[in-house]
Amino acid sequence: MAGFGQVGRSSAGTLSAMSFNPRGVRGASPGLPGEIDYRLARQAVISEFRRGRIAQHEVCDAHPELVRAARNVGEESTRTCPICEQANVVLVSYVFGPRMPAHGRCVTTKAELQRLARAGDELACYVVEVCPSCSWNHLARTFLVTPPVGRRRSAPSA
Ligand SMILES: [Zn+2]
Repeated sequence: MAGFGQVGRSSAGTLSAMSFNPRGVRGASPGLPGEIDYRLARQAVISEFRRGRIAQHEVCDAHPELVRAARNVGEESTRTCPICEQANVVLVSYVFGPRMPAHGRCVTTKAELQRLARAGDELACYVVEVCPSCSWNHLARTFLVTPPVGRRRSAPSA
């Protein structure tokens, strides 16, 4: 079990050993997100890489926990990794909320997300695109999940 030695890189100053925080992922902006799509920011990073202005190790630096989540619980996609073109990228979702761990909770299914939302808290969801092959990673999108208003059991039928 070697290889986790350099986990505690202090790029954001808040990463402690073994606690990965998607808010520190490339492209993340501070504060609670609205519905934000990060395709433009992603495209900018990719074109900088293709022009040779960014080295591969700078864009393929996924945290070991993120890579592990991508391999184990990630949602498969049909999109080829823009960097290595050897594998399809995988989407990993994390939610943040008042009763969630500070580093977020990894959510594997939509049903789980809905169940968490029904608990009554507003949740911020971060979807991260990860390549399990080369460790490319970028925030794909963020959105807020709000609990259903009233939580009525049966809709009124006319
Ligand atoms: Zn890749």
